[in-house]
Amino acid sequence: MADITHAQLSSIAPLTALSEEERLFQAAVREFAEKEIRPHVEPMDREGVFDHALIDKFFEQGFMGLAVPETYGGSGGTFFMATLAIEEFSRVDASAGVVIDVQNTLVNNAFERWGSEAQKQKFLPRLVSDTVGAYALSEAGSGSDAFSLGARAQKDGEYFVLNGRKLWITNAKEAGLFIVFVNVNPDLGYKGITAFLIERDTAGFSVGKKEDKLGIRASSTCELILEDCRVPRANVLGEVGKGYKVAIETLNEGRIGIGAQMLGVARGALEHAIAYARERKQFGKPIAEFQAIQFQLARLATEIEAARLMTYNAARLKDAGLAFVKEAAMVKYFCSQVAERVASECLEVFGGYGFTKDYPAEKYLRDSKIGKIYEGTSFMQLQTIAKLILA
Ligand SMILES: Cc1cc2nc3c(=O)[nH]c(=O)nc-3n(C[C@H](O)[C@H](O)[C@H](O)COP(=O)(O)OP(=O)(O)OC[C@H]3O[C@@H](n4cnc5c(N)ncnc54)[C@H](O)[C@@H]3O)c2cc1C
Repeated sequence: MADITHAQLSSIAPLTALSEEERLFQAAVREFAEKEIRPHVEPMDREGVFDHALIDKFFEQGFMGLAVPETYGGSGGTFFMATLAIEEFSRVDASAGVVIDVQNTLVNNAFERWGSEAQKQKFLPRLVSDTVGAYALSEAGSGSDAFSLGARAQKDGEYFVLNGRKLWITNAKEAGLFIVFVNVNPDLGYKGITAFLIERDTAGFSVGKKEDKLGIRASSTCELILEDCRVPRANVLGEVGKGYKVAIETLNEGRIGIGAQMLGVARGALEHAIAYARERKQFGKPIAEFQAIQFQLARLATEIEAARLMTYNAARLKDAGLAFVKEAAMVKYFCSQVAERVASECLEVFGGYGFTKDYPAEKYLRDSKIGKIYEGTSFMQLQTIAKLILA
């Protein structure tokens, strides 16, 4: 890992300063989210279904391959730009945010880091143009203890035969390609874990029950079922027995994406609360004129600013090739706290109306809860941070 040079340091701009390309990109994503996503948010949340036509638009606009090199048909952007997009999407709808988050920070990223040239050429052009990807590590008995997998694979000539179940898999309903982690040799413990690329129509593979959730309701979360599912050796992502590395490294980066999602949720919640505080009158004046409300909003805005600085810094560290694992865990830990606190207090700004579905405040609160749970619970982030600061 190269240290940053003095020349580079002196040319570094403030974290929230964006290059022209980043600024134009952010404005375009914001406009897209307002125009295309916003009108669908309430019905998608109510029905618990993501509008497929919207996913087609994500592909058309290049949002599903933000950091994939142009040679594979991607947008050729940076990881930082992907975090900007996740934040802007999540400001409007955290479910839309997680659709592009999983595609960009977990699935495409795993291909770029671990895919063979043949795998990249075969799958990346599809992942950027029409195929949703999913990332399947968790199982009913394997959550925080992520490497205690029960799913197994047995070698059979040039194939592996996979059996077992995966749980909680985001985007599974819409996905055409799955990165599935299975143990090929339990005697080796986590060193038997192997990542397989499984196409949806593979015999022996099926998508099971969809969860009915508290928040990010439009984002699908399903079980995966493997029953004598034959996968060619050519579909091993990375090396046999190195799946744990694929998982650790992609999840390290994915945490910045979840931080960005939570940052977007917090921003969205605060913006609605500010607008309401300006318009709602009590005691003959807008409640925004009461100092208590002003201070509450000011405190929440300050927390969001801290969350933004941490998120942007971690993403820029990653793009610069510098160490970012501790910062990424801190981002996820902190941003999910901020999102929950901001969404909860913003709901109170709406008084009784905040407790109803007439305003979006309650949805932001429901959506904020997932930040502390997936891609490693808050305790798991603290464990990572503690390990690194005590090393
Ligand atoms: C909506 C949703 C989407 C998801 N998407 C995906 C996906 O796309 N792919 C995927 O692979 N997984 C996904 N997950 C799974 C998610 O990553 C796990 O739910 C999460 O890692 C927690 O695992 P668990 O649910 O088994 O909880 P558990 O691990 O059982 O944790 C329960 C509680 O115990 C605590 N705990 C556990 N171990 C310790 C410890 N050592 N020290 C202190 N506290 C501890 C936890 O912090 C938590 O509070 C998703 C989950 C949800 C809810």
